[in-house]
Amino acid sequence: TYVVNEKCIKCKYTDCVEVCPVDCFYEGENMLVIHPDECIDCGVCEPECPVDAIKPDTESGLEKWLELNRKFSESW
Ligand code: SF4
Repeated sequence: TYVVNEKCIKCKYTDCVEVCPVDCFYEGENMLVIHPDECIDCGVCEPECPVDAIKPDTESGLEKWLELNRKFSESW
């Protein structure tokens, strides 16, 4: 799955939401999040993000953000 990190906080762009083929972006408290079970790992959102806030969960250090993405996307 792809994960949204802290760089998204207060970002106003929604380019990622528009390109996602499975609509798995959700609104968190002050950022967007990706539902980890709905993301199909296509990767199209990553280059669309103007602040470089979307990363594959294979990158290190994203455990906390993966948890937050899950928490916020499941609260819908
Ligand atoms: Fe959506 Fe693809 Fe990005 Fe996953 S990697 S959030 S499916 S655009």
